[in-house]
Amino acid sequence: MTRVAVVGAGFAGAATAAALARRGLGPGVILEQEALPGSHASGRNAALIRQLEFDPIVRALTIEGVRRIAATAYEGAPVLRPTGGLYLADEAGGERLARAVGELATSGVPSEHVPRQEACRRFSFLERFHFQSLLWCESDGVADIHALLLAMLDEARRGGFSLVTHCRVEDLVTIGDRVIGLKTSRGDVPADLVVDASGAWAGRLGRRAAPLPLRPLRRHLIVTSRPSAWPHDGPLVWHLDRGFYVRTEGEGLLWSPCDERDHPPADPVFDPAAQDLLAEKLAEGAPGLPDLAVQRGWACLRTFAPDRRPVLGPDPHVAGLFHVSGLGGFGMTASAALGELAADLMGGGEIAPHLREALAPDRWDAGS
Ligand SMILES: Cc1cc2nc3c(=O)[nH]c(=O)nc-3n(C[C@H](O)[C@H](O)[C@H](O)COP(=O)(O)OP(=O)(O)OC[C@H]3O[C@@H](n4cnc5c(N)ncnc54)[C@H](O)[C@@H]3O)c2cc1C
Repeated sequence: MTRVAVVGAGFAGAATAAALARRGLGPGVILEQEALPGSHASGRNAALIRQLEFDPIVRALTIEGVRRIAATAYEGAPVLRPTGGLYLADEAGGERLARAVGELATSGVPSEHVPRQEACRRFSFLERFHFQSLLWCESDGVADIHALLLAMLDEARRGGFSLVTHCRVEDLVTIGDRVIGLKTSRGDVPADLVVDASGAWAGRLGRRAAPLPLRPLRRHLIVTSRPSAWPHDGPLVWHLDRGFYVRTEGEGLLWSPCDERDHPPADPVFDPAAQDLLAEKLAEGAPGLPDLAVQRGWACLRTFAPDRRPVLGPDPHVAGLFHVSGLGGFGMTASAALGELAADLMGGGEIAPHLREALAPDRWDAGS
C-alpha cells in the first residue's frame, strides 16, 4: 500500500489529497506547520472566482476549477456565490476584451463585451469609474474560502488522509534518489510519495542545490466602508488597465491595489504604503467615489513560477517527490482542477500532453 505525505494544508495540498482520496489512493497524511489549515494564502485571499485569464493554460485550469467549485457544498450550503464579474478596460484595452469573449466562449463560458454607456445603465454604481468598456462574466463570483478548504479536507479525511498540524517538514528522507519519508519537527514520517504543496515555501524540499524558480510576491487587501449606492451583493469589479479590484465584504468593500513586491516566505506585515497606492489608483480610476473609511487590511504572498503557470508533476531528480506549487493569484479557483491532474499523474494515469509539458517541474532545466 502506498503511503502519501502531503506537505502543506493550503488549497494545493487539500485539493491534491481530496483527489487522491477519491481515487482510493490513500492512506496518507497532510502535514501543516501552522496550528490551522489555510493559515497563509489559502485562508487570506480575496476569494474571487474569475475565469477571465489571458494565459490559455491558466484559463483552462480556472474554468475547470470553477466547474468543480460550483458543484461543491459544505454543511449543506454552496461555497460559490455567483455574483458575476465586471472587468473594466480603458479605450486601448477594449480589443483585448473583445478577443477574451471569444476565448471564453470556446471553453463554454458565456460572457459579453459591453460599452460604457450600456454598462452604466445596467450597473449604475459604475458611473463613478473611468473605463470605456467592460467584459461581463455572469458565472464568476465569490467563494467561501474556508468552507471550500474544509470541504476538500473533509473529503481527504473520508478517504484515509489525516491532518497533522504544528508539524514542520524539515527534509526528505531518501535512499539513493528515492523518497522513503520525511524528517519533521514531530519525528520521521514514512512515505512512498511526497507532495510538495508548501506554497511560498515550495520548491526547496530535496532540491537544495537547485530550488524551483518560485517567487513569492506580497499583495495587500484593504476593507473599507461601502457607499450607500453600492449594491449589497454586487458583482466583483476588476479594473484591468488601472490595476485594482473590489468586491463587497459584509457591510463594507474589500479592495486590492494589485501590488506586487518580492518577499521571502513568511507572514508579511501590512505596509501602510499599500493604502496610499490604493488611494492614488482610485483618484485616477474611480474619481466619483466618495471618501471611504479604511477599516482593516492585511498582506499575504502569491507565489509564481517565471511563466506564471503552476508547477505540477514528478520531480525530475528525486523519485517519489511530486510538486503542486506556483499557484499564483488564481490558486484557490484552479486548485480543484490541479488536484485532479496531480492525482491522475500520481496514480500512474495520463493527462493531456500539452498540460503535462506546460506545468512540468523540469521545464526550466537545460535542454527541456
Ligand atoms: C492577497 C491575495 C489575494 C488572492 N486572491 C485570490 C483570488 O481572489 N482568487 C484565487 O483563486 N486566488 C487568489 N489568491 C491566490 C491563492 O490564495 C493562492 O494561489 C493559493 O491559496 C495557494 O495555495 P497553496 O496551497 O499553494 O499555498 P498556501 O495557502 O500558502 O499553503 C501552503 C501551506 O504549506 C504550509 N507549509 C509551508 N512549508 C511547510 C513545511 N516545511 N512543513 C509543513 N507545512 C508547511 C504553510 O504553512 C501553508 O499553510 C490570492 C492570494 C493572495 C496572497
